[in-house]
Formats: sequence, C-alpha cells, structure tokens
Amino acid sequence: MESVFYMKMKAAMFHGPKNVVLEETPIPEISDDEVLVKIKASTTCGTDRKLYLRPGKKYPSYFKPPTIFGHEIAGEIYQIGKNVEGYEIGQPVYVHDSAPCLKCFYCKIGRHSLCENITWSWGTWTEFIKVPKEIIQSGNMVPIPKNLSFAEAALTEPLSCVLMGVERSNIGLGDTVVIMGAGPIGLFWTNLVKNKGAKIIQVDLKKERLELAKKLGADIVINADKEKDIIKAVKDHTDEGRGADVAVEAIGYPQTWETTIKMARKGGLVNLFGGPPPTSDISINTALLHYNELTLIGVFHTTPRYVQASINLLANKKINTDIFISEELKLDDLDKILDNLVNQKGIKTAIIP
Ligand SMILES: [Zn+2]
Ligand SMILES: [Zn+2]
Repeated sequence: MESVFYMKMKAAMFHGPKNVVLEETPIPEISDDEVLVKIKASTTCGTDRKLYLRPGKKYPSYFKPPTIFGHEIAGEIYQIGKNVEGYEIGQPVYVHDSAPCLKCFYCKIGRHSLCENITWSWGTWTEFIKVPKEIIQSGNMVPIPKNLSFAEAALTEPLSCVLMGVERSNIGLGDTVVIMGAGPIGLFWTNLVKNKGAKIIQVDLKKERLELAKKLGADIVINADKEKDIIKAVKDHTDEGRGADVAVEAIGYPQTWETTIKMARKGGLVNLFGGPPPTSDISINTALLHYNELTLIGVFHTTPRYVQASINLLANKKINTDIFISEELKLDDLDKILDNLVNQKGIKTAIIP
C-alpha cells in the first residue's frame, strides 16, 4: 500500500467567522476500521454560510475550530483499513457527513436523525478525508453509480435531508404546496415536490432564484419584495383562497416560520424545515392549532435510508443537477468560492481539489 502519511494536503481551514484560510495540513492517518478517501468534489452549502457568518463562538459540538471547512463530498477510495470489507481501492464513493449509532433508544425505534450519539464527519474542502468506522458501518459511505459525476453525488447530503422532509409531509397528487424560500434547500423541495405531482407556489426575494424555481417546475412564483401582504398573495393562488394543503418553510427565520404557518388551509400541514438559531422562539395563535387543526412538524437532518434513496434519485436522473451546481472551482480559488457562498452567487459551487 502506498504510504501517504509523510505527505501534506491543501485544506481550507476555518479559524472563526469570516476567517477561512488555505493551509497545508497532514493527510489523516487511518485505523484498521477506517478508510481514506481522495476527494474529487465538495459542494458548498447554506449551513457552511451560516457557520462562516455567525458571530460569537457557539458552534455545533462536532465543529471545533480550527477545523477544515465543508461537509458535502464524493471521492475515490485511496486506502482501506484491514478490517473494512466490501470496498476496493479506486472505487467512487459518496461519503455522508454523519452516522447514527444504531444502538440508542432513538435508533432502536427507527428515528435515526434523533440519535443520541451521532458521529459527524466534517472537513471536505481539502484533498483527503478519513471516513470514521460509524459512517462505514451505518451504510453512509455509498458506492456511486457509473452515470453520476462526483459533483452530482456530493449533492446527496442536502438532497437526503429534503427527501426526508418531503416524505414526512404527506403530499398528495393534486395538492397545492407553498415553498417559502428558493435557495439550495427550497429548490430541492421544488424538484422533489414536482415529482410528487403537486401544484407549487414558491416565494423568494430574488428574481434569479425564482426563475430557477420555475425551471424546476414551480407553477406560481411570488417575489415577496413586491407584495404588501405575502400571506394573501399566496392564498389567492390556492382554490377558493383557502390556503395551501402543505406549507413549507425552507429559509430558517422565526419570522418566516410564523408567516408560513398562516399560509396553510384548515387541516393542512406545515413543515418548518429551515433551522433558525436554537435560542429563538415563535408565537402561534392557538386557534390555528385548535379550530383549524393544523399539523406542525419539524424535520432535522436525515437518515441512512434517505441517503441511499437520494443516490437512487440522482442515478435515476430525477434531480436537475445542472441547476444546483452553478460553478466548478479549484480549491486554490478559495476567495471566489467564499464570495459565491457569502453573496449567494449561484446555487452551489462544486470545489474540485
Ligand atoms: Zn449541506
Ligand atoms: Zn443512536
């Protein structure tokens, strides 16, 4: 086996908000239960943007600066620990950013996204990544079908989160679904809800993003900047103005959560999908829950089942990947990558190290 331990790799290192620097760092060493993957593509994500811009020092427990940035990747297996079976050197794989423990109460009842001991694997804006054994054992390192590029396969992480959100929303054929937000996550919603045969009303502040929503199949697009009463504007596009069967918030602000709740019809379902800061609160008129019998749900992250299903969807060409990968850049173009991320230029940048 070729030794890489003496070598260094290029990495975009996160030191704090607005402080990501291209550095050299040692290539990780793997144990007998791990795999080393040579990264072929990493895609940028709204979560990266939040971390990059968030002032203060409160990060998720698994994110400890200085640390390599990014979490969506696909690559090729470069080294295999001697206890790992079923993979081969050079094999293209998608590596998910997390794995459930498969042992705790929540894993046992099938609620893997609520796992008490999730293993996270971040640090993808670089050349190599060490894949922890939990990710291999949970099936979250998945061989990539031949008809997918590495950048397309890297989309699996956000897609799998949205797929779980869609599957939990009970969308029926012929339903009207309002999607608040047309960023990367909102647009994955559009793509998947279209596959469900529903009418889509999409709301955003950016004209370019609403145009992409139309390309992905949104039936009505509404620019929130141009409306005095956004709730009425949405309801006016639903049958008898009664509101949407399913209302989805794909932005992550408490205020838009509250607005989205008011867009659903009586007996409708509201999926509060975008993640606001954990300390925030919302208020809801009690009548909406009691007399209107609204169902409110929250959905966090994803599970191995939806990771595999997302790879299948991508391989079956059900996702319009061209729209999601707006640009491919080298790791050396870090300034441009960060500029795209911060200023929301395009949807996602694929970083090809
Ligand atoms: Zn992501
Ligand atoms: Zn667990």
